[in-house]
Amino acid sequence: MTSSQTEECRAEILDGARIAEEIKREVAGRVARLSREQGIRPGLVAVRVGDDPASAVYVRNKVRTSESLGLLSEHLALPAETTTEELLAIVAQLNAREDVDGILVQLPLPPGVDESRVLAAVDPRKDVDGFHPINVGNLTLEREAFVPCTPAGIYELLMRAGVPISGAHACIVGRSHIVGRPLAQLLLQGDATVTICHSRTKNLSEITHDADILIAAVGHIGLIRREHVKPGATVIDVGMNNLTDEAQARELFGERADERIEVIRKRGSTLIGDVHPAEVETVAGRLTPVPGGVGPLTVAMLMRNTVQAAQRRRGVTSDE
Ligand code: NAP
Repeated sequence: MTSSQTEECRAEILDGARIAEEIKREVAGRVARLSREQGIRPGLVAVRVGDDPASAVYVRNKVRTSESLGLLSEHLALPAETTTEELLAIVAQLNAREDVDGILVQLPLPPGVDESRVLAAVDPRKDVDGFHPINVGNLTLEREAFVPCTPAGIYELLMRAGVPISGAHACIVGRSHIVGRPLAQLLLQGDATVTICHSRTKNLSEITHDADILIAAVGHIGLIRREHVKPGATVIDVGMNNLTDEAQARELFGERADERIEVIRKRGSTLIGDVHPAEVETVAGRLTPVPGGVGPLTVAMLMRNTVQAAQRRRGVTSDE
């Protein structure tokens, strides 16, 4: 392919950060109205256990965003030695608090803590992450449910960007409980034909190459390459990986490598997804960037779920 052909084929970059700002503005409007008309200030509590640095950054970001939108927000940082029983007692206190509408238990929890017991202990009406079995079941049954924030954000992005879903073949690479599986439910509800691939899938590229919408949620740098993508397809890159190797950065980012190498030199790593950006942007029709794609939408949807929780629990009709 000549360089002029490469220019012609460059994918439209789907600006997740801009759409996230739009959603947050809507949430701030709903928060202001709730306060003015009902005297309600939705409250979100984030619980973090241990000192995983990535989790600390995510929680700080969520707390800061909720404050900026006018929500009441609290951050409980618990020591790594916290036991399952102690965490269950804290969750029970939060369940009982009238001023708390949303409870977020930041994952992963330390190895000794029984994650599924803790998640199942959160009041489903306050489960703004959508991980409680009742919300998982309700989503599957197409009933009212809290939908996990990352898949909800991806669906919102597709709709707001005008990507046709009904009748499209959507292929998701990754079958996790927080991304792949709930996203499959949402896309099915949107009348897509859904395929889920995983580590045991044979002939991955043959399947992904048939997709109109290809979503990569794997955690593997540059897994999705040119041969995986149908020309013109919409590619959503959920992966968040740290890249430290300069030579690899040069290969992955092509002519845009210099700025990434500068980031590696300054901070030790640069953020990259599961998609090989230099290859895929020459074949995809639309592509989400990393950073600035799915990540900001996840936080925006958490804010929206919290306001929804406040409205449902306090019997206020939704204004959406
Ligand atoms: P996960 O629980 O680790 O699941 C990874 C999935 O990828 C599994 O289903 C696994 O298959 C599959 N897989 C692994 N290697 C594969 C291969 N070579 N070919 C095909 N499938 C393969 O991951 P997750 O929690 O969903 O996260 C995935 C990525 O998204 C991570 O980079 C994470 O950081 C990122 N993420 C981003 C956000 C955001 O807000 N932007 C939110 C959540 C996650 P098996 O099931 O067979 O093992």
